[in-house]
Amino acid sequence: MTLGQAREDFTLMLGKLIVWANEQGYRLRIGAVLEQEGHKENSNHYIGLAADMPVFKPGAQEQDLEAHRRMHDCWDSLGGAPRIEKDLNHYSVKWAGRW
Ligand SMILES: [Zn+2]
Repeated sequence: MTLGQAREDFTLMLGKLIVWANEQGYRLRIGAVLEQEGHKENSNHYIGLAADMPVFKPGAQEQDLEAHRRMHDCWDSLGGAPRIEKDLNHYSVKWAGRW
C-alpha cells in the first residue's frame, strides 16, 4: 500500500467515524489533519494519517471523554490505530509502525 492509498483509506474511515459520531449527537471539531509542526517527531499528523477531533458536551469547556471512548470503540471497528489514553482526541491509522 502506498502512503497515498493509506491516506485515502484514512479519509474514508474518518468520514465514517464523523457520520457515526454525528448520529450519536456528538459535535466534533476536526483539526490537525495535515500539519507541519507542533506534534512529536515523525508524527502521523505530518503525513495526513492522523486527526485531532475534540468533542465537547454542549456548553462545556472540557472534552467529553465518554464520547471519545465510544468513538474509539467505533474507530477500532473501522480498523483504526489503538487509542492513546492521555490523548483521546487523536484518531489515526498505523504507518511504518507509528500512529
Ligand atoms: Zn493527534
